[in-house]
Amino acid sequence: MSAQPHVNRTETEGTPTGDPWLLTPGPLTTSPTVKEAMLHDYGSRDTHFIDVNARMRERLVRIVDGGDGHVCVPLQGSGTFVVEAMLGCFVGAGDKVLILVNGAYGTRMARICEVYGRDFVVQEWAEDVPVDPQALDRALADDDSITHVAVVHCETTSGILNPIEEVAQVVQRRGRRLLIDAMSAFGAIPLSTREVSFDAVVASSNKCLEGVPGMGFCIARKEALAATKGNSPSLSLDLYDQWQAMEGNGQWRFTPPTHCILAFDRALEEFDAEGGVAGRGGRYRENCRILVQGMRDLGFETLLGDDLQAPIIVTFHMPADPNFDFDAFYDRLRARNFVIYPGKLTVAESFRIGCIGRLGADEMHAALAVIRETLADMGVTDCAPKA
Ligand SMILES: *Cc1c(COP(=O)(O)O)cnc(C)c1O
Repeated sequence: MSAQPHVNRTETEGTPTGDPWLLTPGPLTTSPTVKEAMLHDYGSRDTHFIDVNARMRERLVRIVDGGDGHVCVPLQGSGTFVVEAMLGCFVGAGDKVLILVNGAYGTRMARICEVYGRDFVVQEWAEDVPVDPQALDRALADDDSITHVAVVHCETTSGILNPIEEVAQVVQRRGRRLLIDAMSAFGAIPLSTREVSFDAVVASSNKCLEGVPGMGFCIARKEALAATKGNSPSLSLDLYDQWQAMEGNGQWRFTPPTHCILAFDRALEEFDAEGGVAGRGGRYRENCRILVQGMRDLGFETLLGDDLQAPIIVTFHMPADPNFDFDAFYDRLRARNFVIYPGKLTVAESFRIGCIGRLGADEMHAALAVIRETLADMGVTDCAPKA
């Protein structure tokens, strides 16, 4: 590695609040100011709080270049809650959804449809292969009963970027509707209503937008959302009802995650200040570049080629060296304030390191320095995977 190890506060003390740096797919490291924004209690009917909600919803629509034809409906819970809400509302009882699967989050969408008893089919690729718009085109040509297509933008299982524009073009040309899980990409990888027509896209507060966990949101075409009335098999996950309540009095239907929303409002301000998607995505791309280069210099191999890699989370093959033990490696890094993540692949033994959250080049260099020292301490001399 060319850069000198940075022996600075990031390496020895963790974040400014003394917490470890989270190099994970979420929850993520947030800024001190985002955390500070939570030091207030608001009632759900408070006018300031209602204004914050309106501002948040408008900002989120703007991130995808949405206008009057689009609306944002926030929802309590982790990201999966809003994925489930999207499928439950938009895929009606008489509809059929084709789910494109190349990882665990695609598989989870199929599981949700199973639980809800919705009609679905799956088209599947290996975890290191992007979904294929041409194969999708053939599947849609072959089955007129498919009304919707559901796809994950960045499949966090591997970190692979799916070709969302091409998928959207096929879906539109074939006259079907598109539902997108953009959870781990939203705010860092461009997604614009000008390039991608969708009925609904979902994401959450605590990934690339760098808020705290606690809520998801759905950005929908108003007309499509209006048509979901009565579809939801769930009361609390009914996006149509949540929307109607919010349009009525500006309030959430049930107890809102007030502190999470205050933090999110601050996080969105910091997102704008960084230059929106271009600025945020640029920092993550640089984080990813430093990480991949540094790990390759140490002998590690990435699962994905650079052309398929999203700058969100990187999957590395497990080294074959018998001195390498992932749990011990993890614990030693954690003791030095860096948290990495186990792999979730079925195709290969692996682990993951994230590039997202409130961290930059200094933290990536510091993490690499700690990784290098840890490998030396463990007596690992060869980081190449099994042949
Ligand atoms: C994080 C994530 C989710 C939601 O996961 P939760 O653990 O429920 O927040 C869904 N899809 C993708 C692609 C994700 O990265």
